[in-house]
Amino acid sequence: MKLSHVNKTFGSNTVLKDINLDFPKGKVTVLVGPSGSGKSTILRSLNLLETPEAGTYEFDDIKIDFAAGVKKDDLFNIRKKTGMVFQSYNLFPHLTVLQNIIEGPTQVLKQDKATAEKYAHELLEKVGLADKADAYPSELSGGQAQRVAIARSLAMKPEYILLDEPTSALDPELELGVLKVLLQIASEHQSMVVVTHNMAFAKKVADKIVFVEDGNILYEGDSETFFSKDNGNERIQKFISAMT
Ligand code: ATP
Ligand code: MG
Repeated sequence: MKLSHVNKTFGSNTVLKDINLDFPKGKVTVLVGPSGSGKSTILRSLNLLETPEAGTYEFDDIKIDFAAGVKKDDLFNIRKKTGMVFQSYNLFPHLTVLQNIIEGPTQVLKQDKATAEKYAHELLEKVGLADKADAYPSELSGGQAQRVAIARSLAMKPEYILLDEPTSALDPELELGVLKVLLQIASEHQSMVVVTHNMAFAKKVADKIVFVEDGNILYEGDSETFFSKDNGNERIQKFISAMT
């Protein structure tokens, strides 16, 4: 999955400036940077929730030239290959946890209900919520709801899971449960792109770390170098010390 020479403008505000970035398969790429720097816009572009005006997006055999527009087929296929997890879970309130998880697999992937339910139960086990299958979202804590949202995303077997500050709405104790699930999934080589302000988590989970500022990429590489004192970049050192 790769963006090349991507530009995105809102009105007169250019928020992505010639972004070149690849997201290695089987790895976790973490996007960090100050508020308003363009992290969510990058993530949303990967799911085509935003459409940049220029640049290309390559994903397996799909190649999108943004200047030429996005074809319907490509949109559908990219959406199938990427699962987005939002800050605020977005579960269907009128459906149980189990129904929330099987909705996509049965409706979009046309799986039969028994198959979808079997996998949903496995996923609930994985996220530590085996006993919540029949609960409604309103009966869950924020951390539990977010773990359901992660299970729901995994149920579609996307190539990449995209997470935009998945724990920023949670207090620290609930956050921990969600981060543990994400670390577990990462250890199973699920390809992921995560936006986070949690530097301890970024350090632990990132195979690749990207520092975004003002629509530019100031650093991309391994997390050890990023967090080391001699990364050679004063701006990044300042950011890290402010965040930790
Ligand atoms: P945060 O850490 O606060 O979530 P971010 O790095 O995710 O910030 P983005 O949400 O990508 O930042 O926003 C980048 C810039 O684009 C900001 O200046 C923001 O105001 C602007 N922006 C984002 N979405 C829109 C929109 N729909 N309309 C207009 N401007 C937008
Ligand atoms: Mg954001």
